[in-house]
Amino acid sequence: MTKPAAHLTAAALVDPLPLARDLIRCPSVTPEDAGALDVLASALTELGFQCHKMEFDEAGTPSVHNLYARLGDSGPNFCFAGHTDVVPVGTGWTVDPFAANVIDDHLYGRGAADMKGAIASFTAAVARSIEDSGQPRGSISLLITGDEEGPAINGTKKVLDWLADRGEVLDACLVGEPTNPTRLGEMIKIGRRGSLNGRITVFGTQGHAAYPHLADNPITTMLRLLNALTAEPLDSGTETFQPSTLTLTSVDVGNDATNVIPADARAMFNIRFNDDHTGESLTTWLNEKLTDAANGADFDLDIQISGESFVTPPGPLSEMVSQAVTEVTGETPELSTSGGTSDARFIRTACPVCEFGLVGQTMHKADERASIADLENLTKIYRHILDHFFAT
Ligand SMILES: [Zn+2]
Repeated sequence: MTKPAAHLTAAALVDPLPLARDLIRCPSVTPEDAGALDVLASALTELGFQCHKMEFDEAGTPSVHNLYARLGDSGPNFCFAGHTDVVPVGTGWTVDPFAANVIDDHLYGRGAADMKGAIASFTAAVARSIEDSGQPRGSISLLITGDEEGPAINGTKKVLDWLADRGEVLDACLVGEPTNPTRLGEMIKIGRRGSLNGRITVFGTQGHAAYPHLADNPITTMLRLLNALTAEPLDSGTETFQPSTLTLTSVDVGNDATNVIPADARAMFNIRFNDDHTGESLTTWLNEKLTDAANGADFDLDIQISGESFVTPPGPLSEMVSQAVTEVTGETPELSTSGGTSDARFIRTACPVCEFGLVGQTMHKADERASIADLENLTKIYRHILDHFFAT
C-alpha cells in the first residue's frame, strides 16, 4: 500500500484534488479498505467532524469498514453519502491505476469517477463553507461505506441501522455516484429501477441423440420457458420510469458430445423493473408463467432480489440540487431513474435522497478518470447545495 504523502490541513482541503489523490492511492478494491477510510477520517477530523468508524461482518461475508462522520450536533442534518471501495482494475490501463497521476487536466485512477473524486468534492465543499461562513446552522454528515461495489450487506444498510439505534436523524441526503453520462450537469438521479436475478434449471433424462423418445430433452423445455418469459414486454413504462426489461444472461448445458441429450439445462436472466412491480409480484408472475410453459416438465427457479425500485418524487431536494447544478454549469439537468442500482435504495427509507456526481463515462473501465475542471465544478455545486439547504 502506498501511504498518503502528507497530512492535509483545513486550508489544503478546500481543493478536492489532494484528497482525491490520497484516496486513489489506497487500493481499496472491495472488500479491502487499504487505509482509504482513515485518510478520509483524518481529513474530516481536521475540519471538526466527529468520526465513527464501524466494521461489520456477517457469517460467510468478508468484514467491511464504514464511516459515519458528523459536523455539528443540531438539526437539520444534511448527509453526503458514498463509497470508498472500487471495482477491480481489470486490464488495458496505460497508467498505474493507483498512482493518481494528473495527465492533460485529468485525474487518472481506479475510483477517480466512481467515486473517490466526489468524496473529495464533498469534503472540499464543506471546507469552503467553514472557511467562508463558519459552522453550519445544523449539521453536515458523511456516510461512507466500503461495501457498495460488493454484496452491500455490511455497508450502508447496517450503518443506517446503527444511526437509527442511536436516534441519529438524516433530513436529506445526496449520494455522489457518477450520474452524468457525458457532461457534468446533464443528469440527477431521483430513483432507480429494481433488480432481480433468476436462475432456471430444467431437469430432463439423459439419452442417445438417435433415440430421443427414450430420453427427455431439457433443452426443448428450456426454450419453451425462455420464450414464455420474453414473448411480451413487462410493461410500457411509468410516469417516472422507463419500461422494465427482462434480459437473458446465460443459457448453458455444458454438453460437448454431439450424440448425447443432456440431463439438465440451465439459464440465467436479469430483470430491471420499475414501480409497476415489486420483487414479490415478479416472483409470483415468474412462477406462474414458467409453470404454465413447463407443462408438467421438472424445473427449478431460484430468485434473488438485489433491490426494489424506488423514487424520491421531484420536490424540494431535487429542486435544490437542480438549481445548484444550473447555477454552476448553466445546464438544466434531467431528473432520471435510469441505470443500475445504488446505495440510495437503502437511504430512501431514512430521508429524501437523490444522486449527483461526476461523469460516468470511464467508471469501471481501464484508464478511469475525472477532469480537474469537473472536480472543481462539482465542489462548487455541492457548496451551493449546502448554502441553499442551510439558508432556510
Ligand atoms: Zn459507485
